[in-house]
Amino acid sequence: MKIPKTHPRYISLTTRHVLEHGVKTGITSLNGLIAHGRGEAFDYLLGEKTHTFAKEAIAEAANVLLAAKHPVISVNGNTAALVAKEFIILSKLLRCPLEVNIFHTSKKREQKIKKHLLNKGAKDVFLAEKKYVIDGLLSNRRYVNGKGIYLADVVFVPLEDGDRAEALIKNGKKVITIDLNPLSRTAKTATITIIDNIVRALPLLVGEIIKQKKSKKLALQKYDNKQILKQAVAFLRKGKYGSGGPS
Ligand code: ATP
Ligand code: MG
Repeated sequence: MKIPKTHPRYISLTTRHVLEHGVKTGITSLNGLIAHGRGEAFDYLLGEKTHTFAKEAIAEAANVLLAAKHPVISVNGNTAALVAKEFIILSKLLRCPLEVNIFHTSKKREQKIKKHLLNKGAKDVFLAEKKYVIDGLLSNRRYVNGKGIYLADVVFVPLEDGDRAEALIKNGKKVITIDLNPLSRTAKTATITIIDNIVRALPLLVGEIIKQKKSKKLALQKYDNKQILKQAVAFLRKGKYGSGGPS
């Protein structure tokens, strides 16, 4: 199906098609489509734009990723379909590995995601190893790679599940996430929460890292993730129409 570029929901519709294709090629899970739907509902309420609270979080995320000793990018079935290109650019800029870690575990899908990333030019793509475990998690997602998330001080995990975000934090790691829902457990637990659509936020994060690398900017003096979440929730409560609603 060809969607005219002038269609008001062009980006939303093309994004859905990318995910549909991800399911057909065995990268994205059917559940991933439902998770995306939850994200879309919040994006609608946010006016489908990148707000100041997201830009501030992106600047801080760039800072923390550049300062990290062992940053790792965690890839799932949705993010592999939507932003593989940007993930690969990020991993090269930060000289860090990509690690496949999916909620609905399947060895076959893990391999497919790995192959998809390698085909697009990724260098290091790690998979979980049974020897390395994130304490405090019961699901299969507790297994991680010994040179990847197990070793990492900073884990970039967009579109994450709350359980794992909490476990990563408890294991002493900084967690940077992208999540359209400021009320999710992931959003509330993460060290840095970028409340934005991943397809808009990732190119901005890449740009910010390039900018900060050039300027060798020092760490931001003040960053308060709770304030960022509060601003997003306040925007959602007020809505596009202010307190009165549409007339
Ligand atoms: P949690 O487990 O953190 O409480 P949840 O169970 O509501 O969250 P999950 O299905 O575990 O949600 O994770 C999916 C999350 O990803 C949702 O919060 C959803 O809003 C978000 N999401 C989905 N698609 C996108 C997207 N394109 N960009 C940003 N966030 C997205
Ligand atoms: Mg969840």
